[in-house]
Amino acid sequence: MVIAIDGPAASGKSSVARRLARKIGFDYVNSGAMYRAVTWELLREGIDPARSESVEAALARISLDCGFSGDGEFFIRVNSELPEVELRESSVNSQVSEVSTIPAVRRLIGSRLHAVAAGRRVVMEGRDIGTAVFPETPHKFYLDASPEVRRRRRAAEGHNDSIEKRDRIDSTRRHAPLSVAPDANVIDTSHLTLEGVVEAISGILRQRGIGQE
Ligand code: C5P
Repeated sequence: MVIAIDGPAASGKSSVARRLARKIGFDYVNSGAMYRAVTWELLREGIDPARSESVEAALARISLDCGFSGDGEFFIRVNSELPEVELRESSVNSQVSEVSTIPAVRRLIGSRLHAVAAGRRVVMEGRDIGTAVFPETPHKFYLDASPEVRRRRRAAEGHNDSIEKRDRIDSTRRHAPLSVAPDANVIDTSHLTLEGVVEAISGILRQRGIGQE
């Protein structure tokens, strides 16, 4: 079973998805971190993300695994490295959306996301989880917040991130763009606390018999 949480950068997805998963006893999967891990590896190898042929050639050599460690944490291994803080570097922030437009990258990550969710109950956050990766799940949530609030949140985290640029590329790309699934519950998080958003989602899920103590 997959609970899809999509939305633009800094809409609160990661914190909400992680907290929700813990609350209802599901595993948490961060699909954005997969795109970041591939981008990080490409940059490490000196590959220009704008050259899709070079990226595709590199993908054939990159080994990308993800799964859950003993304590239930989602991990990503790329060419036997386990990048974590590296995934938030500004070079990754500025290139990840470009890399994410490439269909071969989306296919690779899409297949890994299917494999990691197989036989599990997961809360998966991203951009296209409800529209393209698991369109059949009835549990779709789209989190949004005003650009002003999102900018403030990212700045408060101390990250150098070009969220407007990423959102523009993510929303206008040809393959699986960021968009609201017609059957998604849209939640504006601008004036809600983290707990408030988690409560709103878990309330809807409870009515569907999910996550009841
Ligand atoms: O969620 P996060 O901001 O870490 O995602 C980083 C980038 O990865 C996004 O800006 C987007 O380009 C890409 N992404 C995507 N599809 C997803 C998740 C992330 O294209 N499901």
